[in-house]
Amino acid sequence: MPLKPPPPPPTPAARRRANRILALLKKRYPDIGTALDYQDPWQLLVVTVMSAQTTDENVNRISPVLFARFPTPADLAAANPEEVEQIIFSSGFYRQKTKSIIALSKDLEERFGGVVPDRLEELVTLRGVGRKTASVVLAEAFAAPAIAVDTHVRRVAGRLDLTAHKDPVKIEADLKALYPRKAWSGISMRFIQFGRDICEARRPRCPECELNRICQWPFKRV
Ligand code: SF4
Repeated sequence: MPLKPPPPPPTPAARRRANRILALLKKRYPDIGTALDYQDPWQLLVVTVMSAQTTDENVNRISPVLFARFPTPADLAAANPEEVEQIIFSSGFYRQKTKSIIALSKDLEERFGGVVPDRLEELVTLRGVGRKTASVVLAEAFAAPAIAVDTHVRRVAGRLDLTAHKDPVKIEADLKALYPRKAWSGISMRFIQFGRDICEARRPRCPECELNRICQWPFKRV
């Protein structure tokens, strides 16, 4: 079967528009990083896994207790799951999260000498670590060029016509094609915060949105 030709690169006008959007978001959020508390890349991996389906504030309440009891990947790798479950119970989905954070710590110990790798291809080989979590860790802990696509990034990028896709991997590819590599690590957190503050899922605050004139979303409120 003949290979599908790669999609054409974005036009200069599309790139300019995308950069204008990012510039406005940078104005709103000049300095932004994850709201999750962490001391090192391994802790960020763990708290990012724990943050699924709960708030960052909730994780920040739990994680100091977890890391005081299990200060290193080796400690968590050898942990009794029941004890971990008790500590992280209030984060929700605590059984699955316990499995994931113990498994990823074991993998780190066994295959990477307890050191978090700084390459996407290696990070996603850790059990419980998907592309989104890996990209968060790369962008935040290593300031490496990476774009994590979560539900907010997907919604905001779609409404702003930066992608026509729903699949996170394709959205990531579209954003990476639109923006220069050096901008990648500053995209996700700004899109996420903007999605939380303004471009909310159910009731976007279009009248107070600085992107209103750029946004062509047919359902936007003026
Ligand atoms: S105008 Fe509305 S839909 Fe468009 S980006 Fe702003 S908040 Fe989102």
